[in-house]
Amino acid sequence: MNVERWILLVGCFFLSFPNLAQDYQRPYKKVLLLMGSRFEFTAIARDSTSALAGIEAGIKEVRRIEKLISSWDRQSQTSKVNDAAGLAPVVVDKELYNLVKRSKKISELTQGAFDISYASVDKIWKFDGSVQSLPAKEDIAQSVSGINYQNVILDPDNVTIFLKEKGMKIGFGAIGKGYAANKAKAIMQNHGIENGVVNAGGDLITWGQRANNKSWRIGIADPKDKTKMISWLDVSNMAVVTSGNYEKYVIIDGQRYSHIIDPRTGMPAKGLKSVTIICPDAELADALATSVFVLGKENGLHLIDQLKGIEGLLITDSDEMITTKNLQLNYYKNQKADYDFKLRRE
Ligand code: ADP
Ligand code: MG
Repeated sequence: MNVERWILLVGCFFLSFPNLAQDYQRPYKKVLLLMGSRFEFTAIARDSTSALAGIEAGIKEVRRIEKLISSWDRQSQTSKVNDAAGLAPVVVDKELYNLVKRSKKISELTQGAFDISYASVDKIWKFDGSVQSLPAKEDIAQSVSGINYQNVILDPDNVTIFLKEKGMKIGFGAIGKGYAANKAKAIMQNHGIENGVVNAGGDLITWGQRANNKSWRIGIADPKDKTKMISWLDVSNMAVVTSGNYEKYVIIDGQRYSHIIDPRTGMPAKGLKSVTIICPDAELADALATSVFVLGKENGLHLIDQLKGIEGLLITDSDEMITTKNLQLNYYKNQKADYDFKLRRE
């Protein structure tokens, strides 16, 4: 039989059984360090060439965003804005301008629990092992005075950002990875990847399916031992983002201080071990997970309850596990036994 006939036959076979053609797809993955975090790109595709082209485009996109929003990179536009605090407005790309504009909206929504100008305290709270005792009260007070999203002044006509007070500083630690995940997903979709996941250091977004009619199965880490999963959920076209006190923290006098700062006090937020937010948008999920972590159990749940299409799981310091009412979580029996699950909200 000649080659053309073969191709025709195989083609007819898949046309008659389209599901089998889909089964031919398989996952391709790439893991690498970006934005100081472990990123994992997954593309479901029929061949490695198109999968890897999509993944490479996603990686390029994250690198581009990192260059724009990094406050470590002295050359980034974000650093230029920080360097000009109290001095002058800085012209920036519309993209950065809009990210700051959306960040300010979330600050308003959370009454300042989320605040990109939290970064003025990053001189006193470092989570790289260099801080071993509590910062002095005066230093905290001094740094807190720089936190106020209302002093991040946006000028839409000139597309500038101005930090009104000297010593102010902005940082996108609580929203940047979610934004990057959204954008990488969009680029991969443009490259024809119809099913995939971008996992930005634990902040992830899924689209399509992992296999024929099978949703993506996403595990939620146990805050007591992040190598274990406490529960899982099946999602499609959803972001699942967790903020926890177990990734970046410092222990001082036996107490754990985590990297999420309460802008009102300049101190690490207390009360919760982890917050997971599930909604279609990774940027919003990222920002809200941090916000709820700062707001604490009651106010945090109150905020989620008011927002349509947003679900959450909170684990408190006293090991209560609370979910919003539409969240369908599955539990690993042994792990669940360690937690007090009686507070499910209906
Ligand atoms: P992760 O980086 O583990 O995903 P988050 O999304 O909660 O966690 O982001 C925490 C980071 O956000 C901190 O490391 C810091 O850079 C920044 N941050 C800390 N407190 C706040 C806050 N109140 N508002 C906005 N950003 C914050
Ligand atoms: Mg966040």
